[in-house]
Amino acid sequence: MAKGQISVQTENIFPIIKKFLYSDQEIFLRELVSNAVDASSKLRTYSSKGEFKGELGDMTIDIIIEDEKLIIKDRGIGMTSEEVDKYLNQLAFSSAEEFLEKYKDEANIIGHFGLGFYSAFMVADKVEVLTKSHKGGPASKWSCTGSPEYDLEETDKEDRGTEIVLYISEDSKEFLEKARIETLLNKYCKFLPFPIRFGTKEESTWEGEGDDRKEIKTEVDNVINSKDPLWKKNPSELTDEDYKEFYSYLYPYSMPPLFWIHLNIDFPFNLTGILYFPKVNNSIEIQKNKIQLYSNQVYVTDDVSQIVPEFLTLLHGVIDSPDIPLNVSRSYLQSDSNVKKITSYITKKVAEKLNNLFKEDRKAYEDKWSEISVFAKYGMISEEKFYDKAEKFCLLKNIKGEHYTISEYKEKIEATQKDKHDKLIHLYTNDVKGHHSFIESAEGYGYDILEMDNIIDNHFMQHLEQKLGYGTFVRVDSDTADNLVQKDETKESVLSQKEQEKVEGIFKSILPESGGPNLEMKALSPNDLPVIVTKPEFMRRMMEMQSLQGMGDNGMPEIFNVVVNTNNPLVAEKLVKMRSEEKKEKFASYLYDLARLNQNMLKGEELSGFIKKSLEFVG
Ligand code: ADP
Repeated sequence: MAKGQISVQTENIFPIIKKFLYSDQEIFLRELVSNAVDASSKLRTYSSKGEFKGELGDMTIDIIIEDEKLIIKDRGIGMTSEEVDKYLNQLAFSSAEEFLEKYKDEANIIGHFGLGFYSAFMVADKVEVLTKSHKGGPASKWSCTGSPEYDLEETDKEDRGTEIVLYISEDSKEFLEKARIETLLNKYCKFLPFPIRFGTKEESTWEGEGDDRKEIKTEVDNVINSKDPLWKKNPSELTDEDYKEFYSYLYPYSMPPLFWIHLNIDFPFNLTGILYFPKVNNSIEIQKNKIQLYSNQVYVTDDVSQIVPEFLTLLHGVIDSPDIPLNVSRSYLQSDSNVKKITSYITKKVAEKLNNLFKEDRKAYEDKWSEISVFAKYGMISEEKFYDKAEKFCLLKNIKGEHYTISEYKEKIEATQKDKHDKLIHLYTNDVKGHHSFIESAEGYGYDILEMDNIIDNHFMQHLEQKLGYGTFVRVDSDTADNLVQKDETKESVLSQKEQEKVEGIFKSILPESGGPNLEMKALSPNDLPVIVTKPEFMRRMMEMQSLQGMGDNGMPEIFNVVVNTNNPLVAEKLVKMRSEEKKEKFASYLYDLARLNQNMLKGEELSGFIKKSLEFVG
């Protein structure tokens, strides 16, 4: 038996390995199974080149729990005793050491690749490697108890390949539980290219008819990776059904995806994958972290935030690339040129896909727009390059359900909605029902109204205003209809200046003396409401921004204007002719309440008071 010392300066590196990756202990299994897969792939390659002449036979990789041991067994290339010495004692150890050196300052390292074989010591007190090379020769047994000392001896082993035996340590007993291991294998090994077998499972079938019908239970191999990784296949061989079925395999119980993109690139980096556009709702947050990142079919993480642009983290699916450096820190990833190229490749692909859908079948595209729009708008706001492409296929939808591209819409409203400064005013509502009377008034002026009710729309409109330069967005309730698109026309007032001042006085007396809304007398159309509460676009946006940034409303009262339409007969005739001041005030305050009701601003006590008052009126 050969005894040796693993060449390191550090007294005992294993406790460090153990502690260091504590939170991500589970990756040892991924590392060891990956090694087994690598060894198997290599043998298959040798065989196909004629360098290995023997039978490949069954290449299944077994994961076995036996007493206090966890065993990973492959029928790959195996190692001669010289190779064990070279790969496990010298190379693997030095790479483990280097890895630790690199990360000793990073408190929260994510268990990405790099530690390899030595990660076994995170969970085991003792590790044995029994291995026999495909080249023949005696088998070897290497064992190490977590000190820099190892034993290497000849052993009996019939079959070629490698068996890693982990003597699971006291505080890692969870890795002897069947359910835990099965979960891990399902997480990391579902798409590996060799069968991964974890014991057996019971399968039941039914035989016979009627009363004779009985359940037959049979023990079958429990193969973890029964599904082929669809992304590795050639798109031309796949049907829509294949893609949908794969989606429901990845995300059981999800609604079918809207459409998908099959990624496949060799140069300048290698990347395959399928990105699915899910059916989304308004809650962006919970949709995130659905893309799974693989490296050569080994699951790595579902946090792809550094690899795909933020807005695309809303997509679902799989990205597989051996070229994404996985064993480096996040700050490094951001500056990595491969990662940058991957990011812009994916962005480009997504833009191309959307553009094709738009061009090929506009009707179908419009039908899906409400679901696509979240991605598209999010992307346009956050990625300059995406904006440039998406401007052509981004749609604006009006309340009649018609869709226009940005430039089509410009043409549509140019004649009617240009203000005195030559700005195009895009009118919108975020609440078709709530803004009903404002919409009606605006339509009375021949204006078109967009529906902008997604949480992303506030940002999106602001962004468009900056990008387009020729227009602004104005909510229908931000001003009286005559003033939404400001023109240089003034309406004749029915009331004289003096009468107007009197009306103003009455309304002043019912509003709070300070800190109340702005009051304005306006000669609108007689058909417009007598009193209108408007929420100035600019102030409203400021408030919305503040509350979005988590600053709350700072206890600031909502800012709004009260416009009295001095041409409405209820004001111009009824109110001014009333005799007693008390009656006038009561009437004015009722009109004011109606205006607030129209803006959904009467709540609680005020609403009850209003209903009481109304009952008195009709009574
Ligand atoms: P890496 O896999 O990144 O090279 P590891 O520390 O995981 O590093 O493994 C070191 C080396 O040990 C491998 O490169 C390989 O040559 C050898 N090795 C590990 N596991 C096996 C195995 N199951 N069969 C054959 N060789 C193996």
